[in-house]
Amino acid sequence: MEESLRQRIEIRQGDIAQLAVDAIVNAANTSLLGGGGVDGAIHRAAGPGLLAECKGIGGCPTGEARLTKGYKLPVKYVIHTVGPVYRGQPEDSRLLASCYRESLALADTHGVRSIAFPAISCGVYGYPVADACRIAVDSTVLFLNDHEQIQRVIFMLFSDENRKVYEDYLAGT
Ligand code: ADP
Repeated sequence: MEESLRQRIEIRQGDIAQLAVDAIVNAANTSLLGGGGVDGAIHRAAGPGLLAECKGIGGCPTGEARLTKGYKLPVKYVIHTVGPVYRGQPEDSRLLASCYRESLALADTHGVRSIAFPAISCGVYGYPVADACRIAVDSTVLFLNDHEQIQRVIFMLFSDENRKVYEDYLAGT
């Protein structure tokens, strides 16, 4: 990967709800009405305003993304995207790639310069992390290649194990 592009991608470990960036991405479900995992952590930290705005959106299909304000979070926006439940079908990867692409496109439209992603679909939705990591990084690189505005993409991993998977993959690109 070109060095200038590599410098726009960062891997970190911790709670995405604590990050001060322009936008964080939430691994939501199709109702957008909150859930467990990263979704629960984001809603808890954002406060009830976030859920109230989400209720007004009326859901989101798998592979798409919707934008809200950040409320009590130290971000301007939360971008809610719905990853696929892993089934081992070709459409899984298509839908997961779409989550990254659509989230980045929505962020770009709203003037976002820094954005953080969790490992979408890698929790209760069961996506194997090595495959999901490849899709996350490849989709992001493709987007950044022809979009200048977003200067920083953080992949915020929760576990040591997942962070290592991302670090190893990026080291090999
Ligand atoms: P999904 O339903 O898309 O699988 P989950 O929330 O169950 O979403 O898990 C997605 C990933 O987010 C998992 O790897 C999980 O460990 C991780 N995760 C959970 N809480 C947080 C958090 N606060 N910040 C960042 N990542 C988190």
